Amino acid sequence: MSLLAPRSGRRAEQVTVARPDDERWMAAALDEARAAQSAGEVPVGAVIVRDGAILSRAGNRTIRDQDPTAHAEAIAIRTAAAELGSWRLEECTLYVTLEPCAMCAGAIVLSRVARVVFGAWDEKAGMAGSVADLLRHPRLNHRPQVLAGVSASASSEMLTKFFRTRRASGPQVVDTSSSTA
Ligand SMILES: [Zn+2]
Repeated sequence: MSLLAPRSGRRAEQVTVARPDDERWMAAALDEARAAQSAGEVPVGAVIVRDGAILSRAGNRTIRDQDPTAHAEAIAIRTAAAELGSWRLEECTLYVTLEPCAMCAGAIVLSRVARVVFGAWDEKAGMAGSVADLLRHPRLNHRPQVLAGVSASASSEMLTKFFRTRRASGPQVVDTSSSTA
């Protein structure tokens, strides 16, 4: 399934106004994704921007750190808060190459990031509209603006290629379910 293909109706409210620098900052996030890929990680990258400058940047480190919480967005949020000396990232925009998962969407809400711009949709784990929408949940006390699909093809191509290569080189898994199908 394409990472770009939205199902109809589900994401009508996802569209918010794009800003002139969105693609430029997303390019920096894509650089982080590429660096993560070079290190054998799932290629996802994130940057946090405040007052027209990058405050923090990170790629996935799950494998390197053997830390299931070491997602690009989570690291970027932690670093930005340390940089600011404040857990509140209210003036910040988070750029991430893939739709945030439940953990990262939770961290985004908790840190009060003002705006989230992401690239490709994640049909299997995305929590900005794919699986559910935690970022704009009506019961939560903070709801960032969300813009989807910025440089989405560059992000999804990198991910698709990564998983294709990994499947090709990984151990063969015997699928017992197929014999009874
Ligand atoms: Zn995540």
